[in-house]
Amino acid sequence: MTSDELTLRQAIIDKCRWMNDAGLNQGTSGNISARSGDVMLVTPSAIPYDEMEPEMIVSMPLEGDYGAWSGPLKPSVEWRFHLDIMIARPEVNAIVHTHSTYATTMAIARKPIPACHYMVAVFGGNDVRCADYALYGTKQLSENALKALEDRTGCLLANHGMITVGSDLAQAMWRAVELETIAKQYHLSLTIGGPVILSDAQMAETLAGFYGYGLQDNDKAIDQAAADN
Ligand code: 13P
Ligand code: ZN
Repeated sequence: MTSDELTLRQAIIDKCRWMNDAGLNQGTSGNISARSGDVMLVTPSAIPYDEMEPEMIVSMPLEGDYGAWSGPLKPSVEWRFHLDIMIARPEVNAIVHTHSTYATTMAIARKPIPACHYMVAVFGGNDVRCADYALYGTKQLSENALKALEDRTGCLLANHGMITVGSDLAQAMWRAVELETIAKQYHLSLTIGGPVILSDAQMAETLAGFYGYGLQDNDKAIDQAAADN
């Protein structure tokens, strides 16, 4: 294993622990994956995150023998959607799946999240879709998730939870936090008479200025700061 892969394995574990500590997930629910060259690294199934070690992270090839894996433990039961998203979306290098409370509440009610806040644009469009229900761990769930994620970077999974994707682990986790926050705000607005939904024109205006919005690219920020001085 290269030192880069070891670092990435540890980063996956750190993000798992962080999402539970932050209240974004609970117990052994949820799972995280990251692209490492021509393999996907994914959390093993049903292992408490505080007991997880880098060598327990499962490696799965992105090409060739679909579903093959190596490691001492079985991959997450959701390896199919992680693998299928990573194969279908070359720009995606990291995937977070959680059962966070408010996103899951919306998913239980099978309510997609409309443009109730301009930050919905973070997910690439005017709404965050809710994927049709399918049994956890199935190819059908993966197909439903891929469909809900078309032109989007996050979706709800009916009666289950949410998925967010990113160009790296930090971006995928940032989106998971944003999605949970919007789900909570949307839920609260429903209890006080319902939200006012932004128009398509208002969202188009937001989306136009949103290209590249998100976490600072550290290298670029440092370069810019140097250029400004
Ligand atoms: P794993 O522990 O197998 O990753 O399953 C958790 C989960 O969230 C299933 O949907
Ligand atoms: Zn799940």
